Amino acid sequence: MTGVLYVVATPIGNLDDISRRAIQILAQVTRIAAEDTRHSARLLQHLDINTPLVAVHDHNEAGRVQGLISQILAGENMALISDAGTPLISDPGYRLVAAAHEANIQVIPIPGACAAIAALSAAGLPSDRFTFEGFLSAKTTARQVQLQALAHETRTLIFYEAPHRILECVQDMSLIFGGERRVVLAREITKTFETIKQQTLAELCLWVEQDSNQQRGEIVLVVEGAPVNSGQAAEAEVDALLLKLLKYLPVKQSAQLAAELTGHKKNALYDRALLLQK
Ligand code: SAM
Repeated sequence: MTGVLYVVATPIGNLDDISRRAIQILAQVTRIAAEDTRHSARLLQHLDINTPLVAVHDHNEAGRVQGLISQILAGENMALISDAGTPLISDPGYRLVAAAHEANIQVIPIPGACAAIAALSAAGLPSDRFTFEGFLSAKTTARQVQLQALAHETRTLIFYEAPHRILECVQDMSLIFGGERRVVLAREITKTFETIKQQTLAELCLWVEQDSNQQRGEIVLVVEGAPVNSGQAAEAEVDALLLKLLKYLPVKQSAQLAAELTGHKKNALYDRALLLQK
């Protein structure tokens, strides 16, 4: 009988944030695929679980998938975990889960902590519609292009950011989204120095600059969406985006990417890109 792949959420700080069902599954499966086996070994030790671990991370996932799928097809039940929170959410596992579906293997989520959702739930910003953007680019220009493309997004925006880039990141957001936009810095959620504070982007820039503690630990930024009447990206901004893309890509791909980023029609952007290129 074919086995099952469980996708199991683990804590994002406080070790008590793991469900009873997650503990049962981790103890029952034959094998646990983990991002960092040494890191997960500490969690398993805390839970008194001896299930063997196998490393599945960004650098070896492609090579490991077929072997793991064969083991599940041969009858092993397997669990997938990451270092913290929900696997696949800015974490490895996508290839394994996709391959499991291809092989008709049942995939069962065991839900639990996720930093993005925890931050959103405590942010006090509209939560009926939101977009999860994960990590922005580490490179300044690319990050600014990404933010530019999101400037008119009306849904609440959720970002993950590394502590050493937080100041640069919020400064870029303030520049591109405007200093008046409300934002929530959610830092070290469920841990000793948990900080969740709502203010404007301009205020956040000052706070992060002046208090180096705000440049430490793990951080989620939840940013208020653009006012609904701001509509689609203004023509000048679309032109600026197209011009940047045209520096690196041919006309067709620039138009395609700009259409995905702005919601404008690809054909219209293609014509515009041709003009701009001239
Ligand atoms: N899979 C995880 C989840 O479900 O949230 C996210 C993994 S991602 C590699 C790590 C990023 O998530 C961190 O850089 C930070 O942005 C965010 N994060 C994780 N734990 C957090 C916490 N306790 N407080 C705030 N942000 C956290």
